[in-house]
This record gives sequence, C-alpha cells and structure tokens, in this order.
Amino acid sequence: MPKISNNSIQQIKARADVLDVVAEVVQLKQRGRNYFGLCPFHEEKTPSFSVNPALGIFHCFGCGKGGNAITFVMEYEKIEYVEALKRLAERYGIQLEYEKGTDDLQKGETALLYELHDVAMGIYQKQLFSDKGRPALEYLENRGFTKALLNQFSIGYATDEWDSLIRQIDPKRFSSKVLEQSGLFVSAKERNRLLDRFRNRIMFPIFNLAGRVVAFGGRTLDPQEEAKYLNSPETPIYFKSGTLYGLEHSKNVIQQGKEAILVEGYTDFLRVYSSGIENVVASSGTALNFHHARVLKRFAVKIILCYDGDDAGQKATERAGFVLLKEGLDVRIMQLPLEDDPDSYLSKYAPDEFRKLQQSSPEFIDWFIRKYAEARQTPTAKSQFVEQLVTEITEVQNPVTRDFIIKEIAEKLNLREERIIAQVRRVLRQRKVGSISAVKSDFSTAPELRIVTGIDRAEFELLKLMLIGEDELLHFITEKITVPNFQHVVLKNIAEEIYRRIQNQEDLSPAGLYDHGWTDEERFYLSKIIIESESNVESLNDEEKIRLVMDYITVMLNENLGKSIRELRIKIREAEKLKQNTSSMVEEHSKLQKRWYEIKSQLQRR
Ligand SMILES: [Zn+2]
Repeated sequence: MPKISNNSIQQIKARADVLDVVAEVVQLKQRGRNYFGLCPFHEEKTPSFSVNPALGIFHCFGCGKGGNAITFVMEYEKIEYVEALKRLAERYGIQLEYEKGTDDLQKGETALLYELHDVAMGIYQKQLFSDKGRPALEYLENRGFTKALLNQFSIGYATDEWDSLIRQIDPKRFSSKVLEQSGLFVSAKERNRLLDRFRNRIMFPIFNLAGRVVAFGGRTLDPQEEAKYLNSPETPIYFKSGTLYGLEHSKNVIQQGKEAILVEGYTDFLRVYSSGIENVVASSGTALNFHHARVLKRFAVKIILCYDGDDAGQKATERAGFVLLKEGLDVRIMQLPLEDDPDSYLSKYAPDEFRKLQQSSPEFIDWFIRKYAEARQTPTAKSQFVEQLVTEITEVQNPVTRDFIIKEIAEKLNLREERIIAQVRRVLRQRKVGSISAVKSDFSTAPELRIVTGIDRAEFELLKLMLIGEDELLHFITEKITVPNFQHVVLKNIAEEIYRRIQNQEDLSPAGLYDHGWTDEERFYLSKIIIESESNVESLNDEEKIRLVMDYITVMLNENLGKSIRELRIKIREAEKLKQNTSSMVEEHSKLQKRWYEIKSQLQRR
C-alpha cells in the first residue's frame, strides 16, 4: 500500500466536512443542531439518519451505522480507508503527498481498477479510429454522431477478437485479481485464461459523479448477436443502482433548471444532448430503482420521462414513474409516437418540436389514469384499477403529495375521495403488520448491542461519560479505573483505544475517534456511545455527572476488586485448612483491600 503522508491526512480531515459529504447523496433537513434524512444504508420510509456537523459525525438510529466524513465515504462507496482519503482529497482539491518507496504494484486494488478502466477506455477509443474500427465509426457517423461528440463522451470500439484488450494490458501493472474483478474480462473454461468480455461492440464509457470511468456499455455491430447491449457487471467501483449514464456531463445544467429528461439508452442520451437539450440523463443498464431516484433528487425536482413509444417502453415508463413519484419527485410523461424513441424522433423532427412535446407533457398520475380509465368502465374493473393504484400510492413518502394524488384520482375516476382514503388507510395498516417481520430480517446482519448485566451497563455508561469532553471528570475516572477493569469483550477494546489516546494526548473528539481500525461491531458500539454521550451533556448537571460516575465505578470495582478479594479469601481459607503458607496471599489480600477502601472513601468523600 502506498502510504499517504500524515500531513495530507490531517489536511483532509480538516477540510472534509461531514455535512457536505453526506448532503451530496442524502437529502437532509435541519432539526435543531442535527440534520435528518433517509438512511442510505438501509431502506426506510421515515428519516432516522442524522448528521451532527458540530461533532463531525453521522449516525443512523435505525441500523446503527455511524462515523465521520471518511467512514461515510468508505461505507457509501464500499471502498477502503485509503481510497476514501483519495476520494476526499480529489473532491477538496488537496494534493496528496506519499511517503517514499511506493510504486504501482503496491497501489490499492480500487485505485488499480480505476486505472484499468482508464487504460481500457483509451484503447477502445483508439480502436474506433483505426482500420478495424471503420465499420463502427461509419455506423455512428451515419447516425449523425460527429467526431467531436464521440470524443466528448470518449466513445470507443471493442474489436471482433477474443483477446484484443487483454493483449494490450500490461500484466506487470495489473494483477490477475484486478483483471478478474474489473468485469472487463471473462475467464475461459480451459487453460485458466482471461478473454475480452466485449467484442465487436461500440463502447460507451460510464462515468461516476467524480468523473471517473467505472464501467462500459457495449452495443453490438453484429446483426446476428442476440444481446444488442451488454453492460459491465457490478464491481467494487461500479454500483449499478446508483449510476446514471451522462449525469456527469449534464448535472450542472440539470441543477440550474432543477429539471431532467430521463431517457433509456446511450444513443437516446447522445442524440438529445447533442441537439442542444442538455438537461438529459439515461437509466441505461438496469431498471430504474429508488437509488437512482435519490441520486436524481439531488439535482432535480422535476423528472420528464421520455422512454420508447412502444409497449415495452410504456411499461418501463409506468414502473419508473411510480419509483420517482414515491421519492417525492414531480414526474411528467413525454409521449413519443408509437414507432419512435428519443433518438429516432430527433433525427426526424427539429429540437423545437421535441421541446414543445416536453412542455406539454402531462403529470404522471394524470397520464396513467387516462391511459387505463377508458377500458375500465365497469364497476369491478374500476375498483380493481383503484386497488392497484392505491397500493402504489401508499408508498409515496410525502403525505402532502399523497393527498394531492388521491384528489386527482378521485376527480379523474369520478369517485369519492373518502373512499380512496379509506382504502389507502387499510393498505397502510396491513403493511404495518407485515413490515415488522420484514424490518427484523433486514437488520439480521446488523450487529447487536449486548448490554446485559449491570456491569455491562456500568462500563457502557462510564465510557459515555468519558467522552463528554470534561478533563476533570476524565482524570477522576482514569485514576480509579484502568483498562483491565473492563470485562465486556467489545467495550474493553474501545476502552483500550480511549485510554491509549488519553495517555498520548491524542484526539478524543467524536469524529476523531472513528479514525481507527475498528471492526464493524466495535464501530457500532462506539457510535452508540458517542450519540448517547452527546445527549448526556445536555441532560445532566455537574453534580449528576459525578454521582453517576461514582455509581458506575463502584459497580465496576465491586465486580473486579471485590471479586478478586472474595476469591483470594476463599483461597486463603483453603490453604489454611491444608496448613500451607498463606503469607503472600494474605499480603496481596490486604493490598487489594486497602485499595478498595481507598477508592470507596474517595468516592464517598465526593
Ligand atoms: Zn440506517
């Protein structure tokens, strides 16, 4: 591993603001000193995920995940510590310094995955403009895509060979593990060798929001090939559900107008974008899901769905529409002629026609009802339709939006609003019953806080009081309690790190405490301690704090010291029965006894 210099790490920590980092992916609302939003680590409908910018930490009251800006990036992007540091350095424009004696071979695997994708993108691009790539280039130019556009989006070509890419990759630079993980290759059954995944395909690089290429989508040039499009599989750097094609290029324009046109394909995107309508993004690769919706929500309030005009496109529109609606977005539908997709439409009509269609696009619910209502005039058909709608509506998060939709439906279907509301309530009730078990299974992998005995509780509470930032209190505690006094397997490890930091006068701030190689379980406990400690500061006065500290110390020492004294006493008695020499044990006993009395009287004197 290349070691990032301590100086750089300090710079990153000083600059990386947890609120800033989290707000990029989670919609947050301020409530007092904290900000709340929907947890990105577990699925939830009401916000239990909080950020405390003053302390520099985040915490989820639902799943228990917590940490600082760096741990957030690690968890969210599923990357290692060093990678997270690099990501943040890039974001805040900090030039990283490395300690000497590192080279490419020792780089982190994620960094190598990014590099490999860069290299592959370069090779594909070069091939598009080579002899072998001529048919691909002709195909693209015939469709009206200019060289400038192809360059802007780094579009390339994978030749019709099994080993074209793999031959051009330097095996000394990229280990076979990295090659396998990249998703750019498939392993051949015989002889253990890797072959190119993409062959005879136009290659569309997919970028993440930081502007790094993380995957490819490939369109075949072979009319016999069944899979018209082939995409990279999920990899450590490619999270399909959170990635939208083209967003890296269009995000600023989208953010300015708070409006995005969502299309399905790469060529749809390129056509719309190059027609001067730049607030466009594509959902290529996977069906739209709530992760995509949340990413879009960071940039836009209104999404105009513009999928293919055919049946499949319309079905996809319905699904995507409800997904976006449930996340509280204003969803509009752009209805293209049956035989068209955005690409073909814009090759026939002027951009102005497209814009006109966009401006007159109806609201999603309106469109949905109009589409189905005609065919459902009998009472049974109508009530089945309402049933279906109600099921979807109950998942709309915002109650105001929900009420609005109910009104719409009532009006459009000529029904009484109360009837629909009653139905919504019934579904919500049923869901509540069902969701308890669902939530439980969802959390089954999450660590569990095991604070069972009185001593567990005392240790946990004492650690909380140690972290409220009062030196006098800290001194009082560490005088009487040392690490070996902790019994709980997890709390003991946390205590050990806290004591080590006290001794070396290192950072004891909540955000700083997360910077340690904690296990998931330890971090889960630490998070609880920090969060509860924070509320302690507010609710306790000085006298109460010291009284609590004394109580917990007494419980812990009673367990530790008291237990040792009792055990020693039994040993002495047995030794006396056997007429053995007990002098050393007696000495030890009186030493322990003396210490116990000392502490007790100190505690009582307070
Ligand atoms: Zn959570």
